[in-house]
Amino acid sequence: MSESLSNETTKIVACPACSGDSHYAASNPYRPFCSARCKQIDLGAWASEQFRVQAEPPADPDTAPWPTPAH
Ligand SMILES: [Zn+2]
Repeated sequence: MSESLSNETTKIVACPACSGDSHYAASNPYRPFCSARCKQIDLGAWASEQFRVQAEPPADPDTAPWPTPAH
């Protein structure tokens, strides 16, 4: 009795975001992540790292959007 290996075997890997079970198969478009949410978390972390480099300078408190009344 020999089984055919033609069937797609679903490999379970650890999700890089939540360390949960992730189906590493063609049926999972978010691999190696387990879900779209975990993939977004990873992309978000990467984006925030990029934005940190191009941080805007702090707003000047003297330049208020409204005129200060004189006494
Ligand atoms: Zn996950």
